[in-house]
Amino acid sequence: MPIHHPSSNPAVDAHADYVAGRRSTLVSVGVNIGLSVAQAVAGLWAGSQALLADALHSLSDLMSDFVVLLAGHHGRKDPDATTSTATAATRPRLRWCWAVCCWS
Ligand SMILES: [Zn+2]
Repeated sequence: MPIHHPSSNPAVDAHADYVAGRRSTLVSVGVNIGLSVAQAVAGLWAGSQALLADALHSLSDLMSDFVVLLAGHHGRKDPDATTSTATAATRPRLRWCWAVCCWS
């Protein structure tokens, strides 16, 4: 994995952060799909409600991953002529939510 060197251009840094966060979230998507399926199969096979509950938990984590991907996608857009003031004001908050979700 390449080492991230901060650049003097904040837009370049923001893009590098977006790419790194997106990549780690996609890894999480893969892990949560595998976990959900494995836990559900093992839970059904063993008749274990605890494993089935864990499978549901992993599924809810998967939903969170998609929220993170969506927030990252919308939060990185810069305001343009068609962007309302309210929407432009919301974007930094979306970026913040996305950063918190990525690292939690
Ligand atoms: Zn969880």
